[in-house]
Amino acid sequence: MDDLEALYKQVIMEHYKYPHNKGLLDNDKYKKVHLNNPSCGDDITVQFIVEDGIIKDIKQDGHGCSICMSSASVMTDVIMGRSVEDAKRLIQEFLDLLTGKEIDDEELMDALVYQGVSKFPARIKCAGLSWKAIKKGIEED
Ligand code: ZN
Repeated sequence: MDDLEALYKQVIMEHYKYPHNKGLLDNDKYKKVHLNNPSCGDDITVQFIVEDGIIKDIKQDGHGCSICMSSASVMTDVIMGRSVEDAKRLIQEFLDLLTGKEIDDEELMDALVYQGVSKFPARIKCAGLSWKAIKKGIEED
């Protein structure tokens, strides 16, 4: 096992066991997007609020595999507090990274370790689900 693979497993387990920003709010001011991935059974809802062009808060909830759930937790850490423009760029970088493109943007933080997923095509949808959900919400806004 190389270092990246070890780190990848560690990040996934940490965020799976102790997810960040988990649990939805009963607040109409938040935009809510629900997506699922039938091939794995992943089901995720992302909720966020934009104020003055900044993504001020993000919540996520759902169920599914460890890759999907951990990635949703990591996504909230990476995207929260970003401008909408930065968020769009980082989401695209993450989705590119999943398909095997060389991405080395330290702003992606823990999300960088998911480049290991590109070796397992069936899991790309798992890792990308929450990122696609917030992308959809931002683009509709
Ligand atoms: Zn999955």
